[in-house]
Parts: sequence; C-alpha cells; structure tokens
Amino acid sequence: MVKIFNDLVKEVATPGYCLTCGECVASCPFGCLAMEGGIPVLKKACVNCGICYGGCPQVIDSRQLEQKIFGRRASDAEVFGVYQQALSIEAKSPDIKARAQDGGAVTALLASLLEDGFIDGAIVMGVGNLPWQPAPRVATIRKELIECAGTKYAMGPLFLGLRDAVDLHYCSRVAIVGTPCQITASRRMQLSELTNRRLGGTIVLHLGLFCERAFDYEKFFRGVIQKQLRTPLSEVVKFDIKRGRFITYRRHKPRRELALEAIERYVCSPCKVCMDFAAELADISVGSDGSPLGRSTMLIRTRTGSEAFDIARRFRELEVLGLEGVKPGIEAIRKTSKEKKLRAARELQRRKLQKRPLPIWMQEKPPVPKEEETLQRMARARKTLAK
Ligand SMILES: Cc1cc2nc3c(=O)[nH]c(=O)nc-3n(C[C@H](O)[C@H](O)[C@H](O)COP(=O)(O)OP(=O)(O)OC[C@H]3O[C@@H](n4cnc5c(N)ncnc54)[C@H](O)[C@@H]3O)c2cc1C
Ligand code: SF4
Ligand code: SF4
Ligand code: SF4
Repeated sequence: MVKIFNDLVKEVATPGYCLTCGECVASCPFGCLAMEGGIPVLKKACVNCGICYGGCPQVIDSRQLEQKIFGRRASDAEVFGVYQQALSIEAKSPDIKARAQDGGAVTALLASLLEDGFIDGAIVMGVGNLPWQPAPRVATIRKELIECAGTKYAMGPLFLGLRDAVDLHYCSRVAIVGTPCQITASRRMQLSELTNRRLGGTIVLHLGLFCERAFDYEKFFRGVIQKQLRTPLSEVVKFDIKRGRFITYRRHKPRRELALEAIERYVCSPCKVCMDFAAELADISVGSDGSPLGRSTMLIRTRTGSEAFDIARRFRELEVLGLEGVKPGIEAIRKTSKEKKLRAARELQRRKLQKRPLPIWMQEKPPVPKEEETLQRMARARKTLAK
C-alpha cells in the first residue's frame, strides 16, 4: 500500500524525527504542503499520491542507498563511507576566504562549476529574516555563493531552494550543498521509486558537509545566545565548533565560548540518533575535521565528484594537499565518525528502554527471506493438521 502524507505525520513529524529539510513540501506536485514551525503541514486536500513520503530521508535506513550509488556497501572498516581521494584544500581567492567557514572549499568549488557551466545554479543555505536562521537560497553567480558561505548551526528547509531553482530560476543542472541528512534526502529524490523527478532530475552534484549536530534555533540561538548571554545575533560574525567548544565571534568584541556538554540539551532531537558524520552518500564531502585550521578536508567519493573537482582545479581556485600530508589527518575523521555512530546507537538503546518511539525504519521488521517464509507456512500447516 502506498504511504502518504498522513503516514509522514504519524511516523516522522509527530514522534519528533522531522529534519525540517522541506523535501516533502517541495516535492508535492499539487502544492498541498507548507513548512510551519519546522514541520510540514497540509494546506489543501491531499490526493494521496505518496510522492512526499517517497523522498523523506527519515523513513529508510540511509545505508540502503549505498549499493545504488557506489555499486557496493561500505565495509565495516570504511567507517566514514566509500571514497576515492582525501584532500586538504584552501580556496585561493581572498574574497572567498574572508567569508568562508574553514578553507572555503565549498564556495570555491561551486564558483568554478558555475563559471564552467557544469551547473547553472547551486542550492545553498543563506539566512532568513532573522539573523543566523538558515534559509535556502539559489546562487547563480559567484557573489551569491560568497554571501551564503559560512556555517549556520541549525536546520533549514533546503529543498524549498531546489523548488525555487527549477520554478523561478529555470535551472536545469544544480549542485545541492547540505548536511548528511539533507544529502540522504537529495539522493532519495533521485533514487526512490515514488518521487518528484522534475526536481530530483536537476541535481547533478551532491555536495555534503561533515556534521556532528545542529542546534534548535529558537531555544539555543535566540534563547541562550541572544537572551541569556545578551549577545544580539546581529552582532555575531561567525559561529564555530572547535575542540569541544561552541565559539561565538562578535564584531569588535571578545569571543564567547561554551562547553559542548553544557549545551547538549539544545541539540535537535533527530541529531542525537543520526549515524552519518561525513555525508557518506555525497559525491564530495567537505568538513574541517582532518585538516589544520583554515583549511577544509575534501573526500571525493564518486566519478561525478572527481569530474567536478577537476573543473575547479582547471580554474585554479583551489590550493590542494593530500590529506596524508597534513595533521591531524584521516584518523580524526575516522574517530569522529565512529564516536557519532556509537553515541547514536547508545541513544537509540536508551529510547528503546524508555519505550520512546524509534525512527520508523528501525521499527519495521526485516523482510522474511522467501525460503524461511515457506518453511514457516509449512510448519503452521503441519500444526493445524495435527490438531
Ligand atoms: C549544522 C552543521 C554542523 C557541522 N558540523 C561539523 C563538524 O562537526 N565537523 C566538521 O568537520 N565540519 C562540520 N560542519 C561543516 C563545516 O562547518 C563547514 O561547512 C565545512 O568545513 C565547509 O567549510 P568551507 O569553508 O569549505 O565552506 P564555505 O565555503 O564556508 O561554505 C559553506 C557552505 O555550507 C552551507 N551551509 C551553511 N550552513 C548550512 C546548513 N545549516 N545547512 C546546509 N548547508 C549549510 C552554505 O550554503 C555554504 O555553501 C558542519 C556544518 C553544518 C551546516
Ligand atoms: S505529495 Fe501526494 S500524498 Fe503528499 S501531500 Fe502531496 S498530494 Fe498528498
Ligand atoms: S521530508 Fe524532510 S521535512 Fe518532510 S517530513 Fe521528512 S524530514 Fe520532515
Ligand atoms: S546530525 Fe544528522 S540529523 Fe542532525 S543536522 Fe547533522 S546530518 Fe542532519
């Protein structure tokens, strides 16, 4: 039976597993949905087509997609997924470096791809009406990419940007930049049987960001940073997480730091059971882990990723080192990935013991293999005959 929007509400939004990604809202071909308070809501009569359910990243185990993307599953040793090359990158342009979170690899790569015509738009995360609140943007020129550089440590409806790219900017080849969960959604948009191919078909590059956690915008950024710490968000020039500290950089004022353990309760609930640190399903993944300060680590995972990287090299936008030549190097990514998976497994166990709802893909029983099913049926028939 086809699952529909009601099932998304029951299985994802109500138990608190919605990621605010907006994939379902953007995908509904009948425009029935809108995002309100960080979750999708029905605005007009649903025709029960099931397309919104088909693209949601929270209804399947994301590892199921590995086979389709890489032709194989990652082995147990490949703890941060399948990849071909590991690099440490710094953007060459000072205008990119000045706004970037780390080495500016994401913005520099996208700038080359726009210049080359490999893409005609990039779906990136800017800010909305409120400072530091993530809001999707469609960047079609370098200046727009640079405006959206830098990390916003909260969740935002990225896929509304994809809808705008296609419907308002008439883009036909886009790169999507997102956290690992958003990359799962963009892959679902292309690989799921029931999905909006008009939108999904335009994504030519999945650019993933490393991600350990996102924070609740209202409770943490407005509640703690702005109200409790009396730091107007409009004064903040950068947020960063380094060495277990959440750092707030303010314009012309000393920075403020909070220990991550002290703000654990403001981490978004789905992040606590998320097992993907390094955007394992992306064509290219980028993060700061593994590289020295001011550089970005880049993992090239697919042939498309390799093609995109070669374009950026041709445009001389990137200064490139092998990750094996820098410190702390690849072990740092391995360690963080392992720790994130273990932390999530422990939290899932805790939620199970407390009888709290688990993600829907964990609740469903694994399909019974055909032979086993036949044997079970024969055993049941024998029992009935014996009575
Ligand atoms: C919520 C979050 C948590 C992260 N946690 C870690 C971590 O634990 N360890 C680690 O090594 N790296 C982490 N990163 C990645 C890191 O912060 C940088 O984004 C990455 O190193 C790329 O840096 P850059 O200078 O190359 O990117 P830039 O050139 O500055 O470009 C950054 C890109 O990120 C996009 N972006 C910003 N905020 C968001 C968002 N909320 N959702 C989707 N896209 C967004 C922007 O659109 C921009 O295109 C995290 C990123 C996010 C969004
Ligand atoms: S995509 Fe289909 S099932 Fe989902 S809300 Fe729209 S009409 Fe309903
Ligand atoms: S597609 Fe995204 S926004 Fe929609 S229910 Fe799933 S996680 Fe939430
Ligand atoms: S921790 Fe996982 S669920 Fe949370 S924002 Fe990052 S990728 Fe998404």
